[in-house]
Amino acid sequence: MKKISAAQTASKGYAVGPVYLVKRQELVIERRSISAEETEAEIKRYQAAVETAASQLEQIADDSEIFEAYIQLVQDEALIAGVIGKIKNGSNAEAAVEDAADEFIMIFESMEDAYMKERAADLKDIKKRLQYALAGIEENPFLELKVPSIIVAEELTPSDTANMDFKNVLGFLTEVGGVTSHVSIIAKGRGIPCLTGVKKICTLVEENTVAAMDAGTGEIYLEPEEDVVAEFMKKKAQFEEQERMMEEESKNPSVTKDGRKFMLCANVGNIEDIKDALSSQMEGIGLFRSEFVYMMKKDGFPTEEEQFEIYKEAALLTKEKELTIRTLDIGGDKGLDYFAFEKEENPFLGCRAIRLCLNMPEMFKTQLRALLRASVYGNIRIMYPMLIAVEELDEANRLLAECKKELDEAGIEYRKDVEVGMMIETPSSVMMADEFAQRVDFFSIGTNDLTQYLLAVDRGNESIARLYDSFHPTVLRAIHHVIDRAHAHGIKAGMCGEFASNEKASPILLGMGLDEFSMSAGSIKTVKYRLRNTSYEEAKKLADQVISKSSAKEVKELLEG
Ligand code: PEP
Ligand code: MG
Repeated sequence: MKKISAAQTASKGYAVGPVYLVKRQELVIERRSISAEETEAEIKRYQAAVETAASQLEQIADDSEIFEAYIQLVQDEALIAGVIGKIKNGSNAEAAVEDAADEFIMIFESMEDAYMKERAADLKDIKKRLQYALAGIEENPFLELKVPSIIVAEELTPSDTANMDFKNVLGFLTEVGGVTSHVSIIAKGRGIPCLTGVKKICTLVEENTVAAMDAGTGEIYLEPEEDVVAEFMKKKAQFEEQERMMEEESKNPSVTKDGRKFMLCANVGNIEDIKDALSSQMEGIGLFRSEFVYMMKKDGFPTEEEQFEIYKEAALLTKEKELTIRTLDIGGDKGLDYFAFEKEENPFLGCRAIRLCLNMPEMFKTQLRALLRASVYGNIRIMYPMLIAVEELDEANRLLAECKKELDEAGIEYRKDVEVGMMIETPSSVMMADEFAQRVDFFSIGTNDLTQYLLAVDRGNESIARLYDSFHPTVLRAIHHVIDRAHAHGIKAGMCGEFASNEKASPILLGMGLDEFSMSAGSIKTVKYRLRNTSYEEAKKLADQVISKSSAKEVKELLEG
């Protein structure tokens, strides 16, 4: 028996069974120079490969949104232009696809944002599909998957997940791919245990090696002894029972044992996320990260029309439920292909988010107009990120008022009562919560940034990750103060940072009076279960105790106890 314990949880659960090792057919890319006369034929060969790849994807697409996005990627204009350009410069189609796709892959890989980084994997998948289509081969490494197994692979692509028969999938172990990779999302959606970042797993196992995995703790046993198997099977049954029960429970209203209402919302980055979230028990969208609308574009800022269509679709999907759209929060770790940010010593403290938008008023107004126009289709709320001073808020609102005037003059409709709120994610906005609360309709606490700024700990720096702790009394006291000030001025306080989905934190936040918890849709049922089984009166006492503690350690000890 061998134990491995360094892995990242992508989807919790237990699995015991034989390993199915994913083996890939290596495709050697032939490179040759072509003559001017061959150019047209080579372009036709490439175009035929695009059609083949697109029709293969259409066949496996069902109604999966991911594949629709994939088909668009195969037919992406910038990629096609890149490949054709290289063929015209004398490359054969195989080499042109390889090189043009690699250029885009490098751009995605160099992005700091984890979600965008994962899109590089999607492009690699598309590249391979095109290469196979050019070679006239259709690859399916899952043909031999005939019995329920734990899938082990270096990396799994969306095409892989489309090829496999899920009734034979017990779990996933992959070397590469973060928790926002496609396989992680699929695994979470289907409730399949999944661990990523399992170093060298492909070389540690052979076909049919028996493995036992606990995706919650990240433990994996290879060739486990009988007692370990028995223990895992027991835990698996308990876990699945608990999941079923929580799923059922989550259909009940969001009220505590003693009748206090709370609200659970979803964080999203695009239309697909909204569709996914609609199948959870979410009561609204607490955060739509609109920067993804900007990051998906390659050739320039999205136009008013492009944005309007997306926000309108989002509003039509969410209907009367609240749809909180955060205005562009770019800079820091999030870049744009088409915009050259000034080189900064400290980008997280630099010209990001609202600062950049106020520096580029016309660009900002394009978004504000799109949001206002889409507001008539649902219940859009506008939310500004990263504010530190009331002047910034006043300036943003002045631009918003200008947009309203322009729409009035053009006779274009918008909701006159559209709510305007702000993220509380800077220490300054905490200290100025009183003043801000008098000027906005709602607060949403962004603990991801707030923790990094309050503690002066870079949220992305792994070497100091142990210092990044939202249970630090500094953070808890700041949250408490913000909720208190919001309520003093009659506005609601929500939270859309990761902390809102922390099971241990949720009773404290409830006790502090948090009105709205927003998180990735997959976490909603767990938090709902936790809060439905909490008494508000007890949670209030817990919150009081917690904020009087003098260290994160003491807070955690109290919660454990
Ligand atoms: C936050 O900072 O808590 C937040 C929700 O925003 P983001 O993670 O997008 O910075
Ligand atoms: Mg933030």
